[in-house]
Amino acid sequence: MDSTKRPDYPTNIEAMRSKLEMYPLRPGYGLWRLLDRFRPLFFGALVLQGISVFSETAGFLILRAFIDNVLLKQDWNAPFYLYALGFVGLAVLRSGLSFASSRWGAQTSEGIAKTIRDAVFDHTQRLSFAYHDRTQTGELIQKSTSDIDAVRRFYGDQVMGILRILFFFLVNFVTLLLINVPLAFISIAVVPLITVLSTVFFKRIYRSYENYQDQDAKLSAVLQENLSGVRVVKAFARQEFEIQKFDEQNAKKFDLGLTLLLNHSVYWPISHFICGMQMLLGTAVGAFWTMDGLISPGTFIAYLGIASSLIWPLQQLGRLITQLSTSFVSYGRIAEILVSEQEQLAGTEQAPVLKLSGRLSFRSVSFAYDTGGPVLKDVGFEVGAGQKVALLGETGSGKTTLVNLLPRFYDYTGGSILLDGHPLEQYPRAFLRKNIGIVEQEPFLFSMSIADNIAYSVDHAVSRDEIEAAARKASIHDSIMGFPLGYDTLVGERGVTLSGGQKQRITIARTLLKDPRILILDDSTSSVDAETEAEIRQALRALMVGRTSFVIAHRIESLMDADLILVFKEGRIIQSGTHDTLSLMEGFYRQVFELQTRLEDELVKETLHV
Ligand code: ADP
Repeated sequence: MDSTKRPDYPTNIEAMRSKLEMYPLRPGYGLWRLLDRFRPLFFGALVLQGISVFSETAGFLILRAFIDNVLLKQDWNAPFYLYALGFVGLAVLRSGLSFASSRWGAQTSEGIAKTIRDAVFDHTQRLSFAYHDRTQTGELIQKSTSDIDAVRRFYGDQVMGILRILFFFLVNFVTLLLINVPLAFISIAVVPLITVLSTVFFKRIYRSYENYQDQDAKLSAVLQENLSGVRVVKAFARQEFEIQKFDEQNAKKFDLGLTLLLNHSVYWPISHFICGMQMLLGTAVGAFWTMDGLISPGTFIAYLGIASSLIWPLQQLGRLITQLSTSFVSYGRIAEILVSEQEQLAGTEQAPVLKLSGRLSFRSVSFAYDTGGPVLKDVGFEVGAGQKVALLGETGSGKTTLVNLLPRFYDYTGGSILLDGHPLEQYPRAFLRKNIGIVEQEPFLFSMSIADNIAYSVDHAVSRDEIEAAARKASIHDSIMGFPLGYDTLVGERGVTLSGGQKQRITIARTLLKDPRILILDDSTSSVDAETEAEIRQALRALMVGRTSFVIAHRIESLMDADLILVFKEGRIIQSGTHDTLSLMEGFYRQVFELQTRLEDELVKETLHV
């Protein structure tokens, strides 16, 4: 639908979220609260349904009158046109009501689903890093899609269906009472049985659906990971392994799906049998009474129609009630996201310093992730504004963790970090992230034009000249101009495929445009060829000028000019100083330096030899 034509749904993300947050464990009540401003629309739809049910039953009453007064009396002078008009009129009325009620019902269920989707996406954007650490992306995707869809069905199919059936039941039962009281009571003999059956199956299906959705989330996670890591899979030719991994999870989903369907399919024949028996009983009693002349044939035929409108919907009612359990499970899964902790981005206070110089002081900083023991221990050092700090150390020694503390992706657990003389936690996260630029090891670009990718780092409009200037500084302008559409070239699946080095330089241009005071660079030139490496280095040098920079270094070349080199081991700083001082001292730094120089010398010799 064209967005200009989209009805103005009464949505309020904040209200919706707070409702979901308030009633995470009480799905019934929570789902009622979520109706919120959709109530007039929803109840309107229900009333229309009710009138439509009424018109259906009225049809049987006209039929009864026709049989008793016209058919059996062979009255050729009867006003046939009136009967015909009655039937046609009711049919037209029913169609109109059914259309209007479906439309309002759809507006309600789609409207609520849209609002929940918005609320979930909104919340997902602000989830803490810790949440993402323990949740797989596939699971989040599944909750944002299939679980929301289950909640949509709750309003669209289940509630509407259940209320419609209850209404059906009521109208038909009252009509039966009016026709014949004993017959009416005989017709509802199955109600207690169906109620017990539905309750038992509600619980069974609730459990099996919960397991099924959990497994579905696992499968989505495997799929999502496989697709994101498709290059790695291909590079290591691990397709067979991946297929097997998928197969295992898929087989589990198959088993759980089977259990779920089995529960549904056991319910169905049992209830079918019960309702069939009921129909048989009612028909037999009705038939005998008609033969005895206790009721008229017209009453008997009307009874058959009304009773089947009473009993078969009852069976549907049981099915819908058991399906409700699936919506309740999904509601709980969605609410789980919405009650999980969010990052406070803006904070209520202003940053203590609005124009940062980038001076940092780490004092006996320690840190531990939620899941484990200390990762940083007693880390202390000073960095002047505009200085370059290089971090060296084995994998897992805590370098990434340290730089992740600066934008407050995680908050340190001990000691203090002072930025321009003020504790880091006094700065709102949004402020820090505006002032800190990060060039990741794995550059990530969105599926949009190169210009838009560069401009992504700032939230205000930027001119093409500014974008070009940043690209020039990042030594990527010429490559961009080489593409057929220049800066308007699309990146990603529908556009050009960029090399790793090109992507890296585009992300550098993006960071240059942002013009942050502090920089975090993962020195990731190791995977590109020598020429590209030189270009990236040049781009990085341009980027670092005048900014406080933290470089996670793997090569001595990118360490040598640092104002401060920190060597990490198991979360502690074991050496610190400049290249000149450290290369003279015994220790890890000198070992790495000597090893790399020797390797490079050998490489040069080998190359010259060839
Ligand atoms: P480096 O960057 O030096 O390779 P990291 O900072 O990535 O080291 O990791 C330091 C330690 O913290 C490792 O033992 C790693 O397993 C652990 N770690 C890293 N990230 C997380 C995380 N998100 N949750 C829990 N533990 C983590």
